[in-house]
Amino acid sequence: MSDGAVLHVRGRVLVGPQDVRDELWVVDGRVSFSRPLTAADVRTVTGWVLPGLVDAHCHVGLDTHGAVDAETSEKQALTDRDTGTLLIRDAGSAADTRWIDDREDLPRIIRAGRHIARTRRYIRNYAHEIEPGDLAAYVRAEARRGDGWVKLVGDWIDRERGDLAACWPGDALAEAIAAAHEEGARVTAHCFSAESLPDLLAAGIDCVEHATGLTEELIPVFAERGVAIVPTLVNIATFPGLAAGGEARFPAWAAHMRRLHERRYDTVGAAHDAGIPVFVGTDAGGSIAHGLVADEVAELVKAGLSPAEALSAASWGAREWLGRPALEEGAPADFVVYGEDPRADVRVLADPRLVVLRGRPVG
Ligand SMILES: [Zn+2]
Repeated sequence: MSDGAVLHVRGRVLVGPQDVRDELWVVDGRVSFSRPLTAADVRTVTGWVLPGLVDAHCHVGLDTHGAVDAETSEKQALTDRDTGTLLIRDAGSAADTRWIDDREDLPRIIRAGRHIARTRRYIRNYAHEIEPGDLAAYVRAEARRGDGWVKLVGDWIDRERGDLAACWPGDALAEAIAAAHEEGARVTAHCFSAESLPDLLAAGIDCVEHATGLTEELIPVFAERGVAIVPTLVNIATFPGLAAGGEARFPAWAAHMRRLHERRYDTVGAAHDAGIPVFVGTDAGGSIAHGLVADEVAELVKAGLSPAEALSAASWGAREWLGRPALEEGAPADFVVYGEDPRADVRVLADPRLVVLRGRPVG
């Protein structure tokens, strides 16, 4: 800390959902469970402590028109940070946000590079828009540019058909996902409908975003293969509005979107019950505001996760899945302190008492 005081947190340190300690110290920017010998000047904060929250589907550097400037990207990252999100899996950005890695006051970002979409089959200015013959080469390039993830647009409206349709043939997906795995990267895909999922599964996909199209037949296969989902329910809440806007030109698509929306909680609940790993993602950036991680956790509780499970999907579990530490001895001191127990009521997440990033109180 800049004033030389050692930060000490007393209360309930939630090392895991059931694993609770009663205090934590910050020593040289890292978590310690023992009082440092040199702690003369101590600042003590009390409360419930969670590891820094994770938004596993967030876009820094995007707005509805495409890439934004650094100043806007910074504001987005600060909004996430001040609501306790200290680790972001960026699910695709057209902006180069690598500079954020040099900023001690901004959240850590795990990037998926830039979205890879089929030509004219995604939001304008977001993606590399390509054809299947080039997919493997683009996936390999984004795997090298990103931080261990690649993002595909797996389905989108096909305007000729007037409905959602899969974007890629199975053989192109198999080659592309193999290329990403060779590069040590995992692959995730934006999928609203069921249609795109079998080919992605066969090709070895690691995660599916939104996943509103999961069916009774597909759920056991996802579970068996450990394919995770990031439902982004705060985004799926916008489906009825999108459907209303597209109703006149694309009535079949609009009806499809409404059906997916209506069964969203059943879909996520069934996936979770079957053992599919479910993680919190808000889909901030584009049309969704930043800083909604608490809302998404509450949505997962509505879908049937217990409060502890929904918290884990934004903290302990999500960090393990992304290969980042939580609250353990020597881990970077990234954590959030709350005035009440978030396990009793996840709405507590909306009002952090203190956010600590790299050992420093921020916000
Ligand atoms: Zn997204």
